Amino acid sequence: MRLLDLRPLLPPGLVVDAIEPVADRVIIPVHAPEAPRPCPACGGPTNRLHSRYERRLLDLPSHGRAVELLLQLRRLRCLAAGCPRQTFAEPLPTEVARRSGRRTARLDGLVGHLGVALGGRPAAGLAQRLMLPVGKDTLLRVVRRQAPKAAGPIRALGIDEWAWRRRQRYGTILCDLERRRIADLLPDRDTNTVKAWLRAHPEIGVVARDRAGGFASAVGDASPGAVQVADRWHLMDNASAAFLEAVRSAP
Ligand SMILES: [Zn+2]
Repeated sequence: MRLLDLRPLLPPGLVVDAIEPVADRVIIPVHAPEAPRPCPACGGPTNRLHSRYERRLLDLPSHGRAVELLLQLRRLRCLAAGCPRQTFAEPLPTEVARRSGRRTARLDGLVGHLGVALGGRPAAGLAQRLMLPVGKDTLLRVVRRQAPKAAGPIRALGIDEWAWRRRQRYGTILCDLERRRIADLLPDRDTNTVKAWLRAHPEIGVVARDRAGGFASAVGDASPGAVQVADRWHLMDNASAAFLEAVRSAP
């Protein structure tokens, strides 16, 4: 029987050994081609087997089921004289997964997008429907990790609430407005948490925030030199709320 070549569908560098549908997911045993790998300590290539081990990685769901890659990997022995490293685990390419990650990089990318778009708990609910078995804590961790670290001082900061769970639990999102990206996510919207973060960034000159002023006192205390402004979105939001209020109260 001619076997289907599934390599184009999987993260690069993996060879499929089988496809095993079970109750709620598809398990795909895979291995990496047995080529020499460089020792992480001395850089010398080696192909000498020490032992084998298994590692599980969640991958993109398929055909209505979660997909789990069951990797058969090698622990290799370094043969270089005097090298302090005797054995090491065969590394996966970074485009497949992080060093000790439990999901493939491409699944992490999707999880990160969901977390940014919806917030922790709503994203976790949708993830279950999409056959992505990840919880809200994982979503927040992935979003944090994927938020690029500031490449320099943050001069203009946007600050707002971020919903873990709509109308029940909020965190704080901090955006670098010049670079148009997330600077950080804080687990709550507590004044002291926000102040501590602001004090670590004395370079901030402008803070755009909600006009309602939830963060005003924190910014005033921790970044006294920063100019506080209302951002365009909140101005429009406040204006439309005021308009509705005026219409409703009209005689
Ligand atoms: Zn070595």
